[in-house]
Amino acid sequence: MPERLDSPAGPNPSWHALTPSQVRSSLSAQGPFSAQEARERLAEFGPNRLPEVRKSGPLARLARQLRNFLIYVLLGAAAITATLGHWVDAGVILAVVVVQTLVGFIQEGRAEQALSAIQHMLAPKARVVRADGQHMLDATELVPGDTVLLEAGDRVPADIRLEKCHNLNIQEAILTGESEAVGKLPEPVDEAAVLGDQSGMAFSGTMVATGTGRGVVVRTGVNTEIGHISGLLASTPSLKTPLLEQMDRFARGLSIIVILAGLAIFLGGLAFSGLAFRELFMAVVGLTVAAIPEGLPAILTITLAIGVRQMASRQAVVRRMPVIETLGAVSVICSDKTGTLTRNEMMVTAVAVGEQRFEVTGEGYQADGRVCMDGQEAGNHLVLSELAKAAALCNDSTLTERDGLPVIHGDPMEAALKVFARKAEFDVETITDDWPRVDEVPFDTELRFMATLHHDHHGHGTAYLKGAPEKILDMCRKEVSDSGELVDLDREKWERLVTGMARDGLRVLALARRPMAIGTTELVIEELSEGAELLGLVGLMDPPRHEAIRAIKDCHLAAIRVKMITGDHALTACAIARKLGLRNPDKVLTGRELDQLSDQQLEALVGEVDVFARTSPEHKLRLVKALQALHGVVAMTGDGVNDAPALKRADVGIAMGVKGSEAARQAASVVLLDDNFVSIAAAVREGRAVYANLRKGIAFLLPINGGESVSLVAALLLGLTLPISALQILWVNMVSSVVLAMTLAFEKPEPNVMEQPPRSRDQSLLAGFVVWRVVFVSLLFLAGIFGAWFWGMHQFADQTVARTLAVNTLVAMEVFYLFAVRYLDTASVTLRGVLGTPSVLIAVSAVVVLQLLFTFTPWFQVTFGTAALSLAQLAFCSLTGVAVLLILELETLIRGRLFRAARG
Ligand code: ATP
Repeated sequence: MPERLDSPAGPNPSWHALTPSQVRSSLSAQGPFSAQEARERLAEFGPNRLPEVRKSGPLARLARQLRNFLIYVLLGAAAITATLGHWVDAGVILAVVVVQTLVGFIQEGRAEQALSAIQHMLAPKARVVRADGQHMLDATELVPGDTVLLEAGDRVPADIRLEKCHNLNIQEAILTGESEAVGKLPEPVDEAAVLGDQSGMAFSGTMVATGTGRGVVVRTGVNTEIGHISGLLASTPSLKTPLLEQMDRFARGLSIIVILAGLAIFLGGLAFSGLAFRELFMAVVGLTVAAIPEGLPAILTITLAIGVRQMASRQAVVRRMPVIETLGAVSVICSDKTGTLTRNEMMVTAVAVGEQRFEVTGEGYQADGRVCMDGQEAGNHLVLSELAKAAALCNDSTLTERDGLPVIHGDPMEAALKVFARKAEFDVETITDDWPRVDEVPFDTELRFMATLHHDHHGHGTAYLKGAPEKILDMCRKEVSDSGELVDLDREKWERLVTGMARDGLRVLALARRPMAIGTTELVIEELSEGAELLGLVGLMDPPRHEAIRAIKDCHLAAIRVKMITGDHALTACAIARKLGLRNPDKVLTGRELDQLSDQQLEALVGEVDVFARTSPEHKLRLVKALQALHGVVAMTGDGVNDAPALKRADVGIAMGVKGSEAARQAASVVLLDDNFVSIAAAVREGRAVYANLRKGIAFLLPINGGESVSLVAALLLGLTLPISALQILWVNMVSSVVLAMTLAFEKPEPNVMEQPPRSRDQSLLAGFVVWRVVFVSLLFLAGIFGAWFWGMHQFADQTVARTLAVNTLVAMEVFYLFAVRYLDTASVTLRGVLGTPSVLIAVSAVVVLQLLFTFTPWFQVTFGTAALSLAQLAFCSLTGVAVLLILELETLIRGRLFRAARG
């Protein structure tokens, strides 16, 4: 075995200055590795990954919790009460600081966990050739000596010495700072060449802008160029979203106002009221704690984090956090067709050659179907065989078997063509050996065709072409007749045939051949533009996904318009659109028609057209802009490198995780793990649920603060003793409110979330209904607290009992209000509503137990100044809670009536 030049410890040769074969022999990697060899090398060289940025440790997370305005206030209050010698009060306040810090600490930890889990779902992939064929592997599994394929949109997975390049341009800004993509060629360059000039190398982390390439991995992991520079991966994104920032700002602003007001009340009280310093001080501390919504930011953060996790479990991975909010407001979804709305399990079902028409039978990728004519097996047919040869040679897919079932590698459509070639009794394996490929023009969505050049053993060259019929027909003057002779192309006949197949919903491909001069070793696109001989057409069936039909219906119900954007033929697109149940399946706009429209004309049309066919990626950008100009909140899917601008521009850019390029993933804010339209609809539903839960969190927590602070201010103004003491308020806010509010983050979407129109994009969380609810419920709470206190004082003439009654009434109202808030817009007193969810029931039980401890155990009674209550008194508390629920139920009913009356 030749001596290895490269190992993590060994010297680092100038791979760019060696020829590809020298590189291969240095790495003892003459051909693709077997799985065993790859495993051995992986054990030797280690996984191909860079160390991750160390996340901030638990201590830093803890410190972050302490850097909080309310904590400062509480610490200050604890210090003052301690200096005054009120040790119990100081102790309780410190305990509250500990609880608040711990709650924040645990919640932030959970949010971080949710985020880092999704990061791992987006691990980069690499196209690797191993002894048993082409695989899509995790890039971490690459080893030096592996053979890797690159295409436009890929992120280069390791440092690679290129062996073959086809129009390969790579964007290396990450390494060189140069934003222009640089051309790549396999020839060695001078040993002294700087990185930017090492044109035979593709470096890890850079992006393929155009073309295709093949090469051998020379360095992995920390030994790569990018490994030398950064050595670290980007950190996980933070959970900051515009709405959260808005709420943070709100909470901070409110805290400052409350503290200033508290200070004013304190000073005013000292000067004018006869209250003692301690009493006044504790009243102001109580008021401050009562009015600041301390739990709110934490609840909102955890709601978002849970939303992110929920979406990931529905196969939609969020890459940019703010998009969770936007998802719920989506009003138009523009989706690719193939693989997203359809199954991408293709099968050739119709063939046309010369004057003959064939049907192809069979199931999926199984080779046991037949090519038939009028129900009879077709038998040998000269041109059919030539067509099958073209289908097998002008093809990058491979078919293997596992457990007797066919396994495809590469494009499903190409795999279907290979299956067809087998059904036409064509020896696919032998032909690829007899006619090796010398060069190729890879498929490109702009070109809409691909071509391969093959030589037989005598050096005769033939190019085989396949692609969109109009493209291939443009290149042909002749067609091959049934007898194998060349005759003039009957374009009209072929166009009629294409129309017929497309109307049936088939994807139509034309196949052709072009004899090349002896000795030709390169394909030049311009030279292919004429002189080809048409072999025939194939029609492929790609059935719609059943579940997509249902999901589209759901979207329509939710007033979300679904549009299909495809590179396919207009008639094929219409036929599929009809099967899918799109709103307007018969009106189609093609890429060419789109080019002729001005932006204004497009805006006038785009709302009503649901099918866009024969489009190129740049059309997507125009469509996004036009739909946004109509105030749409647009979700757009994409997979290719050229889709990136549209994905970036869309309100929600959605990349395909399976067939999508790395460039598309980077530009997108959401990545679908299964490329399925259903996951988009599910993400929108989750987005709406998250927004609703944020609203519920706010609608739940703010009235508690509101009710408490209004009660305290009212008491102070009326010169009454406080109905609830400062320590009791701390107890309610830190214990029952937090425990109850936490359950809202886990709320499932309400059954009618997808029956309402999308909310407007810039609707504030603190507007309209939520504000009304906060005010209304604050007043209900005020009435409940005072009612309980007055009743307590009047009946029992005992302040301790009256306060205990007021606190328990407040907590009971919170518990019942939780049930009301879970269904903001629909009835809450239903079987489903009353039964709650496991988390609601656990939280409510916990709160009941805590309140019993608070009321009946001596330690709590001494600490918080509470007294045991009688059954009748406890019943009073609960009934007040029930009353709140019933009043709100009535309010929801009236609101619903008013809303319907306004609409009707
Ligand atoms: P979408 O996924 O957006 O629905 P699509 O997959 O139908 O689009 P493209 O992949 O852009 O669209 O393909 C456009 C056209 O190019 C196809 O209708 C077909 O005629 C042709 N085509 C697609 N793939 C190949 C291929 N591998 N070789 C040759 N021609 C192809």
